[in-house]
Amino acid sequence: MNHDIRRAFQYFFRACLLKCPECGTKPIFMSIFRVRRLRDYFTPLDGCPRCGYAYERELGYFLLSIWAINYGGGSILGIMIYCYLEYFYHLSLPLLLVCVISPVVLFNFFFARHSKAFFIALDHYFDPHVKNGEGGGDGGSNTKEPPAPATPVAPQRAPTPEPGVLV
Ligand SMILES: [Zn+2]
Repeated sequence: MNHDIRRAFQYFFRACLLKCPECGTKPIFMSIFRVRRLRDYFTPLDGCPRCGYAYERELGYFLLSIWAINYGGGSILGIMIYCYLEYFYHLSLPLLLVCVISPVVLFNFFFARHSKAFFIALDHYFDPHVKNGEGGGDGGSNTKEPPAPATPVAPQRAPTPEPGVLV
């Protein structure tokens, strides 16, 4: 139990630093100085160059991170700002909308990377895809499960009718 809590904090702090949850040394995203397109900013790298941890396990993997963590965090922030402004300042509705929505949009943009990193850490904590299940990863010694070997399937052909037989 104690080990689990220590591991949870370890993954959490690695996610705060946008580092690989497994080894904690390599970044999950491209460096901000190398980003040329908006897509590069939001898209994680394919995997950790050190330990080989795959950041995106499947297509649509980060859907929950955006909907639950990023939008959820933005909604909570918006509600807190709204309550604060409504309680202390009594602003007009247009000004109140601008004051609430603007920081939420900025928050969602800048928190998008962290929401994905938190989701990777959360997923790795509850469903680690390493062989020994330790997940400590101090030296990146854990190895990934090898992918299931693809068995080639012979293409099925439709039966050819025998010559001379009318159907
Ligand atoms: Zn790694």
